[in-house]
Amino acid sequence: MFVQELHIEMTRNCTLYCEHCLRGEKECINIGKNTIDNIFKDVTSVSNLLLTGGEPLIAVQELEYLIDVLRTREINVGYIQIITNGTIMSARVLRILKELKSLARLNIVVSSDIFHLLELERLGLKDLRDKNLQILKELFNAIEYGSDYKKTSEVELSYCGRAETLTKERLAEINKQSNFEFTITDGVRTMRQPTTYFSGGYVIGYIPVDVNGNIVSYGQSFKEEDIEAEKSGININELGFRGAVRKFTDYLDKVDVIAARFTL
Ligand code: SF4
Repeated sequence: MFVQELHIEMTRNCTLYCEHCLRGEKECINIGKNTIDNIFKDVTSVSNLLLTGGEPLIAVQELEYLIDVLRTREINVGYIQIITNGTIMSARVLRILKELKSLARLNIVVSSDIFHLLELERLGLKDLRDKNLQILKELFNAIEYGSDYKKTSEVELSYCGRAETLTKERLAEINKQSNFEFTITDGVRTMRQPTTYFSGGYVIGYIPVDVNGNIVSYGQSFKEEDIEAEKSGININELGFRGAVRKFTDYLDKVDVIAARFTL
């Protein structure tokens, strides 16, 4: 079975507490090996594999297990993207990144917007993060925020992070503290779950799998994911990946899911 965009939430744990965090309160839960097994019992080919969290590099055992499954089952993966805040580094983590790079084209996205930088400074982790970035730059072909990175580089260090509850007043304070001016628009911006189609063994669109094996809408907080999962009952470990995807695409047709709410 081919999946165009497979997003896997490796953990809900994180090393930071960014005030703009879309995911909400962290939880000490990593993805189960059974979920990884059940995904790749059915999936044989993925165009883009996105590994998210929390901070995915916390879940070293699960990442190693995922690599093992991808390798032994000869899963065909075009592109792997991992989003990290850059605070985790060890020989084991570097081995994992090298292994991912050996499996597919790799993009390590380091969250480096102003909100993450403020949080790193607050916790006294900025120097550590900068040293880690230096190591990544030396070991991988990194370009800092290059616009045509996909053509020229295997690895990009880029920006990510979205404001969910940030107030204008707090933003004004943040702008005073930094050289960078971050601007916002009034009102609430919402983004709908991109449509996902499933037919004849091909999934075109997004399949976001949460840490508990639920297929949930794209870009929500952990709490919202759990509420949706309870309502929709689309769990890979209960229905199998194929069965869960079928139910998910039916579900998207019936409900008006709003994912990723931005209150600015
Ligand atoms: S924005 Fe990212 S790095 Fe910051 S607390 Fe949330 S998950 Fe962690």
